[in-house]
Amino acid sequence: MNLVADLHVHTISSGHAYNTILENTQSAREKGLKLIAITDHGPNMPGGPNKYHFGNMKVLPSIINKVEILKGVEANIVDMEGNLDLEKNFLQELDIVLAGLHDDCFIPESVEDNTKALIQTIQNPLVHIIVHPGNPRFKVDYERVVSAAADYNVALEINNSSLTIVRKGSFDNCREIARLCKKYGTLVAFGSDAHWYERVGEFDKAMKLVEEAGIKEKYILNTSVDKIKAFLKSKKNKK
Ligand SMILES: [Zn+2]
Ligand SMILES: [Zn+2]
Repeated sequence: MNLVADLHVHTISSGHAYNTILENTQSAREKGLKLIAITDHGPNMPGGPNKYHFGNMKVLPSIINKVEILKGVEANIVDMEGNLDLEKNFLQELDIVLAGLHDDCFIPESVEDNTKALIQTIQNPLVHIIVHPGNPRFKVDYERVVSAAADYNVALEINNSSLTIVRKGSFDNCREIARLCKKYGTLVAFGSDAHWYERVGEFDKAMKLVEEAGIKEKYILNTSVDKIKAFLKSKKNKK
């Protein structure tokens, strides 16, 4: 399987990542990627960018270092209703919106409440990808989350960093999510979640899980730039 895009990359704007867009695109180019999504944390993350960071992304060119970029955010889900920490008018202007549950931004609730938060987020037509749903800090009912994602045409991320350096204890959850994605035909997005340029485009562990689950290439967004664009467009039509 040839992966041509990284849909989850951080820059120094996140406050706890260590490279610039120039460095990340250069790294992506060296690794043969055609596209990366710049997805810094939403404003509620301590040390994260303010909303004007996202509002001003329009000044960036769409190709940097010969790598196409998607201007995006990794928004924080702030409550059980699936509200995000960036207003709708900002989200609408971005190419791609990732959303997920993060420490310091969402207090873990019961499985029922966490599940509700994710499903309400999935139902938001502005959201494209749910990030690291396998995080053991926020237990959810995977069966319901994965089937809702299929119903609402939202991709679920298999986050390579969750399987290597952060969110310890994610492995079994991610394997279960991959199994259910195969069962329901849910779209999968790989994200390196790189906070350091060398990790851009690193998907080895995530890829292994997805292959073990038998998920076919057509359900994996990162395999084609055209597929990513068609997916983003299909969501735009429903706004
Ligand atoms: Zn981060
Ligand atoms: Zn991230």
